[in-house]
Amino acid sequence: MKAIRGATTVSSDNAAEIQCNVKELLVKTIKANGLCEDNIICIMFSNTSDIHSYYPAKAAREAGFVNCALYSSLEPEITSALKLCIRIMIIAETDNKPQHIYLRGAESLRRDITSKLTIAIDGPAGSGKSTISKIIAKKFDILYLDTGAMYRACALACVRAGIDCRDGKSVKELINHAQINVNYKDGAQVTLLNGEDVSEKIRYPEISMLASTVSAHEHVRAGMVELQRQIASDNSCVLDGRDIGTNVLPNAGFKYFLTASAEVRAKRRLLENTQKGINQTYNEVLNDIKTRDEQDRTRKIAPLVKAVDAIEIDTSEMSIDEVAELIIKSIQEKI
Ligand code: C5P
Repeated sequence: MKAIRGATTVSSDNAAEIQCNVKELLVKTIKANGLCEDNIICIMFSNTSDIHSYYPAKAAREAGFVNCALYSSLEPEITSALKLCIRIMIIAETDNKPQHIYLRGAESLRRDITSKLTIAIDGPAGSGKSTISKIIAKKFDILYLDTGAMYRACALACVRAGIDCRDGKSVKELINHAQINVNYKDGAQVTLLNGEDVSEKIRYPEISMLASTVSAHEHVRAGMVELQRQIASDNSCVLDGRDIGTNVLPNAGFKYFLTASAEVRAKRRLLENTQKGINQTYNEVLNDIKTRDEQDRTRKIAPLVKAVDAIEIDTSEMSIDEVAELIIKSIQEKI
């Protein structure tokens, strides 16, 4: 048995509007929770004391809910409370996770579930973006999109086709015919190149450098950015990359720019590589990181740069958990 909540507002104490808005709230809540009248035990309604012209519960009867018990009550008068508001609580037999529905002015009561959460995390390689983004996505139960993986898949496509990543014309032709996409398996991103799962093959250092080269081409970025925006428009999500806050999602609700010294980032990447069985010396990793930073920062299109409204966090002296906690706290304060 579950308690499912919802609320809506009306613009005035008008019977027809109350009936219409309450009916809409009921229909949407029932649909979102996959309910039917048989598994609804009762529906409770409460309304603020500025509503007199209509019992909200009547809307349920008029909408055809004849078998379940209905109950209406008046809320106490609270000075700062939302005005002209009607709440419902549906007690139903269901195993599904309740989907609470808040409409119109009542959205402000539950920003956490009514607004889409869009979080942009940018920064150079090794700044901790992906690990931290995954923690944040898990915390808020939202999608994580690693945009770098898409550029890596483009680079792998070039390597396989024997194309020089600097050759814009050949890259364009290849990418026009390649299918790069992402999927999710048990909540984890799977990167697909022409339908093949390349999630692991794109992690090699050669691919990192080539991804940086290939991502500088305008047409490559255009295709990838379109896909990233499409994924973000359908879901609450955390995107990490180089240009999320500046270019992909300039209206993201939360933006962060992670930094750390090249030496600290090289040490982190070396450790990651060793764990994955990738053989590189510290100096090689440091060199790659510096070259990639330079390429990403100085390219003409969507270079790596902090969005003016992003919060910058220097992670050099911080643990992953400290950075994640800082970001989570700053989001929770606002939702
Ligand atoms: O984040 P990751 O290291 O996997 O990214 C690989 C490369 O893809 C980066 O060096 C960068 O050049 C490019 N990239 C980008 N824009 C993004 C994400 C990654 O240009 N949003």
